[in-house]
Amino acid sequence: MAINGVKGFNDILPGEVEKWQHIEATARRVFELYGLSEIRIPILESTELFSRSIGDATDIVEKEMYSFVDKGGNKVTMRPEGTASVMRAFIEHKIHAKDPVARLYYLGPMFRYERPQKGRYRQFHQIGAELTGVAAPTVDAHVLTMLTQFFAELGLAEPSLQINSLGCPACRPVYREALKGFLLGRIELLCEDCVRRYETNPLRALDCKSPGCQEATKGAPSMLDYLCTDCSDHFAKTRNFLDLAGTGYSINERMVRGLDYYTRTTFEMVTGLLGSQSAVAAGGRYDGLISELGGPQLPGIGFAIGVERVALLLAEKDFSRRPELFIATMGEKAHAEAFRLMVELQRRGLSVELDYEGKSLKSQMRRADKFKSRFTLIIGEDELGRGTAPLKDMDGGTQVEVALDAALILKQVKG
Ligand code: ATP
Ligand code: MG
Repeated sequence: MAINGVKGFNDILPGEVEKWQHIEATARRVFELYGLSEIRIPILESTELFSRSIGDATDIVEKEMYSFVDKGGNKVTMRPEGTASVMRAFIEHKIHAKDPVARLYYLGPMFRYERPQKGRYRQFHQIGAELTGVAAPTVDAHVLTMLTQFFAELGLAEPSLQINSLGCPACRPVYREALKGFLLGRIELLCEDCVRRYETNPLRALDCKSPGCQEATKGAPSMLDYLCTDCSDHFAKTRNFLDLAGTGYSINERMVRGLDYYTRTTFEMVTGLLGSQSAVAAGGRYDGLISELGGPQLPGIGFAIGVERVALLLAEKDFSRRPELFIATMGEKAHAEAFRLMVELQRRGLSVELDYEGKSLKSQMRRADKFKSRFTLIIGEDELGRGTAPLKDMDGGTQVEVALDAALILKQVKG
């Protein structure tokens, strides 16, 4: 019996993978314009890294982690997200000693044990960015502008940017109590999960999708009304800088992120096109995380983009590549000459296709059709004799006679 892949773990096949390559190349290009460098972090980390950073009372740590004990008895987890790993590396390698302002990006798979559905998988991919060492709101606005530019360069009108502020350890506890007080009288409306986390993580009720929680939180107090002077000032300045950059956004006071480490500015890139998988990218400030993980007292801000969801938004676009030239042949000698030309042209940077087995001309032309090559060159006994062959422009329909010489063919094709 054939063996299938594991549920929630996907293959990305040719035809689809070109879209992924385009998304990744766009991210690298845009992020590097903004001064970021790539960091490659491992897939496996100590379980404690995530329980300490993401928080024990979050969905991820409570129920979504792929954790196991390895053969040496170590408790390890396949990373569910990238920020904790990047900060672990930042501290471990004392990157901050060289420059506290690190600007890093990463891409790769993440693992969460969730119910697989469209836009939600157990192995999924994120492209993320992390900027450390700057508390100033300029960096908040710059990061959000970079994220917006990434989506704009992909040619996507969706998603759009929503921002909020979650305050800091000075003002959030006050808000938490106010919210708990508000929810107390409506606790019977809350879903099982939100009742359970009423004490540990009451803010989650604000963005819970269950109808009861939405009803219960109607008219709830807003974090924005509870921000301390510093947080309120930071939020106002962030908005000013966004305006200066011409980066559009809306404020969503109910946005709470599912990870404990966020402070102040939080944000999501949201779409209406993917049902309840509406967040295509998400992130925020984490001014206490680095010290929480045993590093210096440095602020940070970052985000992660869900690549599968971006690919879904790009579904209609065709990224498949077409070879520049297909060489069709008649006869063994012509086939050998075509082989020589193909290799010579590929060495010179042209993408060329040839039917390896030199089947009938009809079946070769069918392959040429399938490849949708820009040009076709047909070589038979006559062409070999005169040393030239017809080169057909498949888009324009025009045809020219070219010498069977790689340099001259290259010149014709590249124009
Ligand atoms: P959601 O609310 O959809 O569960 P999240 O808040 O758990 O998202 P984050 O941890 O902030 O998501 O991750 C950032 C981005 O990664 C999300 O906005 C989403 O695009 C993507 N993402 C998260 N979980 C998954 C998953 N299981 N499958 C595919 N993409 C995911
Ligand atoms: Mg989630």
